[in-house]
Amino acid sequence: MIKKLEVPNEYKKYISITLCLTSECNYKCWYCYQNAAERKTEVDYKDCIKFVKQVQEKYPEKEILVLLMGGETLFYKDINDVIEELYNMGIKIDVTTNGSKPEKWWVKYGHMINNLTISYHHKEVDEDEFINKCKIITSNLNRHVSIALMLEPKYFDEIYKVARRLVDEVNNLMIMIKPIENSLCFKDFQYFTTEQNEYILKNRKFKSKIRKITPSPFDLSDVVITEQNGNQTTKPLNEVILRKETNFKGMKCYAGIEEFFMNFDGSIYRANCLIDKLGNVSEDLILPNKPIICDREECYCRIDVQMTKEI
Ligand code: SF4
Ligand code: SF4
Repeated sequence: MIKKLEVPNEYKKYISITLCLTSECNYKCWYCYQNAAERKTEVDYKDCIKFVKQVQEKYPEKEILVLLMGGETLFYKDINDVIEELYNMGIKIDVTTNGSKPEKWWVKYGHMINNLTISYHHKEVDEDEFINKCKIITSNLNRHVSIALMLEPKYFDEIYKVARRLVDEVNNLMIMIKPIENSLCFKDFQYFTTEQNEYILKNRKFKSKIRKITPSPFDLSDVVITEQNGNQTTKPLNEVILRKETNFKGMKCYAGIEEFFMNFDGSIYRANCLIDKLGNVSEDLILPNKPIICDREECYCRIDVQMTKEI
């Protein structure tokens, strides 16, 4: 029985805020869980900045990490203002994008982003253009870039070929293969064949050429667990999640103190699990002073899991 779960000491100075800026996207992937091409919701960027400032002022001793999400995050109408203002406030910025912004955008704004994940969508992009763009983006960052290749059964061989080309032709990339799952129960969903599944399992790791880079606060990969008897162990976060050791029901959770989450409509919650809505980003919000008792059977999201929980 766990008494406490927390991040290692060097990560305790961070508070993370996830901002879902827009659910729109310029691509039309059939497997999009956001149905991004269809929906339209956008928040006012000035409200988002005001909210981040409020957290920063309440916790001046902490460093704030802001995770910008979409839809296509960089498709958000005021994305340049958001990135510039956060950067000037000394905020660390994490972006997930489909990478479709033009090269000159990356040259101007790329260095302001601390952590970048680019998703590859085979039917939506030109392979050569994507690889060239990756070369430009990595040359403007002092960190590696993660590439998430969305793997479709239909284009299995082609997508692995792109993965290998990225490894061979671009430095400082971390390659991740993301097999598409039928989490939305698509009609006529094509599953991977047995051979394809075996291939995926055998080829999980790609050896990329990553030079020595600045450590990022987003690289958090361990949690420290204290048992009832006082024994303490440090475990990889992934292991805790894969083993489903993530039922914290009844424990005090520091959601709303170490983490905040803003949904597409501007609703602010303590965490990604959407526990305890604090109001809307457009309103004057009162930030919590105390942790909350978890009432969920399972904690799903990496950011949620790594927040402090204690009995
Ligand atoms: S790029 Fe991402 S957000 Fe856009 S349609 Fe595809 S899956 Fe959805
Ligand atoms: S599910 Fe929510 S309330 Fe429960 S531990 Fe995770 S983040 Fe905290």
